[in-house]
Amino acid sequence: MTNVVPEKQTTYLQTTSGDQFPVGRVFCVGRNYEAHAREMGKDPERDPPFFFTKWPETVRNADPTDGLDIRYPPETQNYHHEAELVVAIGKAGFQIAEDDAKDHVWGYATGLDMTRRDLQLDAREKGRPWDTGKNVENSCPTGRLQPVSDGGHIEAAAISLTVNGETRQLADVADLIWSVREIIADLSKFYALEAGDLIYTGTPAGVGAVVPGDTIVCTIDGLPALEVTISDPA
Ligand code: MN
Repeated sequence: MTNVVPEKQTTYLQTTSGDQFPVGRVFCVGRNYEAHAREMGKDPERDPPFFFTKWPETVRNADPTDGLDIRYPPETQNYHHEAELVVAIGKAGFQIAEDDAKDHVWGYATGLDMTRRDLQLDAREKGRPWDTGKNVENSCPTGRLQPVSDGGHIEAAAISLTVNGETRQLADVADLIWSVREIIADLSKFYALEAGDLIYTGTPAGVGAVVPGDTIVCTIDGLPALEVTISDPA
């Protein structure tokens, strides 16, 4: 039998040991650092964690030596960087207890949740879905994935982002409003998590726009850094 469309390609993240981690679903946490919630005009005290999703194909793996080039996307004049700690799920689970949550983590990476901020804010204002603002092709550049078996759990570590060498975001992942274990417990009430799922845990304050030609460097202490260059629109 002949397929009428090409078979779907799996997206992989390269691990620190050179293996390929197949990416399942991509979950993102909204407003998970106080100062960022405030810069987005929201009171962090009142907001329980909330989630949105992106296609796995939005994940682009940075080449360990040369970095990664992504095109400036269409239909935006305000494409924002969001530096985030990425959690990779290694063991399936549903309604996971907080105390068991860490057992489900395969590893961690440094990642970006790039965002068409103009479209996201317009949708937010109108009470519409965020998809065109958030689920943007190539919008999740992600560094090499480090297994817990190598680097342990990332619980307190500086997270930073520079654009052309200038610091834009600087915080500590210990300042997450909802910790990794709380996020896994909460998210797994709604979804049966599977090995391969990724969770982008939210961004600290200092989000801002990039333009073609900019180079973003995102670091989390204890994890491989991520370097991304923004190239001209198609
Ligand atoms: Mn984000």
